[in-house]
Amino acid sequence: MARGMICDVLVVGAGPAGSTAARTCAALGLRTVLLEEHPEIGHPVHCTGKLSAHAFRRFGLPASMAQNALRGAALHAPDGSVARVRRACVDSYLVDRAALDRYLAEQASSSGAEVLMGTRARTVVRTDGATAGGLRVEVDRGSTRLAITTALVIDAEGAVPVLPPQLGLTPRRAFVHGLQYDVEGAAIEQEDAPDLYFGWNVAPGFFGWFMPTGGTTGRLGVAVDPRWAAQSPIHYLEGLRTAHPASAPRLRNARIVRRFAGRIPVLGQRRPTYTDGMLVIGDAAGQVKATSGGGIYFAMQAGELAGRAAARYVGAVRCVGSPAGPQPDTWARRPTRVPGGRWRDTSASGAPRSAARRCSQPSSGRRSTAFVTGMSARSSARSPGTTACAAR
Ligand SMILES: Cc1cc2nc3c(=O)[nH]c(=O)nc-3n(C[C@H](O)[C@H](O)[C@H](O)COP(=O)(O)OP(=O)(O)OC[C@H]3O[C@@H](n4cnc5c(N)ncnc54)[C@H](O)[C@@H]3O)c2cc1C
Repeated sequence: MARGMICDVLVVGAGPAGSTAARTCAALGLRTVLLEEHPEIGHPVHCTGKLSAHAFRRFGLPASMAQNALRGAALHAPDGSVARVRRACVDSYLVDRAALDRYLAEQASSSGAEVLMGTRARTVVRTDGATAGGLRVEVDRGSTRLAITTALVIDAEGAVPVLPPQLGLTPRRAFVHGLQYDVEGAAIEQEDAPDLYFGWNVAPGFFGWFMPTGGTTGRLGVAVDPRWAAQSPIHYLEGLRTAHPASAPRLRNARIVRRFAGRIPVLGQRRPTYTDGMLVIGDAAGQVKATSGGGIYFAMQAGELAGRAAARYVGAVRCVGSPAGPQPDTWARRPTRVPGGRWRDTSASGAPRSAARRCSQPSSGRRSTAFVTGMSARSSARSPGTTACAAR
């Protein structure tokens, strides 16, 4: 029989979306568990790691995370012509994705979230009549099967989520397929400007890139739309490496030190990203920029908004005893830029803590995070200072 634990919010997937959501939930006083299927956060890396300077500032990321600062770009047209753009200031950074993911997961943990690595969510069902929450998620942790009962699941599983379809959320999407080599020994023209390559023969339906990471190292990649590509991504990536008139000469002496493939959910219809007891965020919800495939910043934004929505939702479950849904009116809205260039969070109607506070009462000394199994857990000893007012 599966061992069990109980939490307010279960976040599935410790990428940028999940870790940011878990940090926000935990900081708002929710008993939060964050699951990551891999034994190590951030590995394997499946991303180029280009992140805007705005995103860096917005989330207060440490400068040490940046491997290279980018100020411009060279855009290579199919006819061989090149358009160069350059800014006076830094436009974006290349980050070490593994380090970024680790940093965000550590923030979640230090905010009070319980981070379970090497733990894969398998199934989710509704638990009608359960006292402690509305969903039961079965997870595999090594050879142990664990059942987690929770009021809310925030699904941040990445491009191919398994849980949302089990609750009837079926995002219908198409993907572009990415493939990347990390190389060293390249002849780099401008260390602060990536090269972007376009053309039906270069990267059908999307584009190719070389992102300099410093010295002679960089990331050479392509993403192609399989609806338009006659060949597999490796054909186009090898074309960039060995035959493209602008790219190949610079890579003649370069050595491939790592390769990876990944899917980017840039195409498809917009579908609901929530149902009673579940919010879907990040790549799992297709929240990436359609033009570039960039999703780190949107994932983090979605994580923050989801965390705030979770506080309101779990507050409603605790106080009223009946799930009111994750408040689609507030969840569906996004931060918007207001005149003057600042961001205004249109979803934060009212203080996000208020719902959780309203229905909290001083802790009676009863352990507020119920680890039914006695699995050693940091947050089980932590006292968030609140106790749910609904009977548990
Ligand atoms: C080739 C390529 C290049 C890219 N380059 C960029 C770029 O330069 N800039 C940019 O902004 N974006 C880029 N992206 C997109 C970016 O990687 C994603 O948008 C971003 O990682 C989304 O974050 P996420 O948290 O939603 O998902 P992910 O980062 O995919 O994280 C999901 C996590 O959930 C875990 N997980 C999945 N299922 C389960 C489960 N059932 N149980 C437990 N854990 C689970 C996974 O192991 C993973 O750690 C690129 C993508 C690709 C494929």
